[in-house]
Amino acid sequence: MLNLVLFGAPGAGKGTQAAMLTDKYKLIHLSTGDILRKEINAGSDLGKLAQTYTDKGALVPDEVVIGIIQSQIAQNPEAKGFIFDGFPRTIAQAEALDKMMENNGIQITSMIALEVATEELVKRLQLRGESSGRADDQSIDVIRNRIDAYNEKTKPIIDYYDAQKKYRAVNGIGEISEIFNLLCKCVDELK
Ligand code: AMP
Repeated sequence: MLNLVLFGAPGAGKGTQAAMLTDKYKLIHLSTGDILRKEINAGSDLGKLAQTYTDKGALVPDEVVIGIIQSQIAQNPEAKGFIFDGFPRTIAQAEALDKMMENNGIQITSMIALEVATEELVKRLQLRGESSGRADDQSIDVIRNRIDAYNEKTKPIIDYYDAQKKYRAVNGIGEISEIFNLLCKCVDELK
């Protein structure tokens, strides 16, 4: 089984690349951001709760996203593997993911980070805000909060996976197809 964590700051290109990797390696794509946006659009209780955080660019509480991932893993017993996109985002989430994997007799194969400099991230998110309806891409303050949350709470996860010898990084700046090729090279070395 190939279980990948695709890691990177907001705007690093995780969603785009995860969709392409999912297609090529026949994995199940689990994006907590996408799942939360669906809940927000549906107006569910979970969505209403999540929106109070996403509107500010803050992280949704660990137990909420851990619960989402737990149920998605349970719903896909036949999966050839998973690609986690936007999860884990805190050390507590990374630890919970390892436990969930262990309980299912599987493990994370690797965490691959897309590296993009902060100023490029801000530019990309502002551009995305102009072309997409994503609420959290519309305001520079919300964009900055998300990048701050990434630097404070998410970046330390690199050390967590590095200690397990699972951390890899690729340059996330360039053509989408170029970056995809780098990621595929990385994944193929894992198999
Ligand atoms: P994303 O589409 O991954 O950028 O996520 C959009 C927003 O959803 C984030 O800014 C957070 O508010 C929330 N979110 C998504 N995934 C997580 C997570 N793993 N932990 C906490 N909050 C999350």
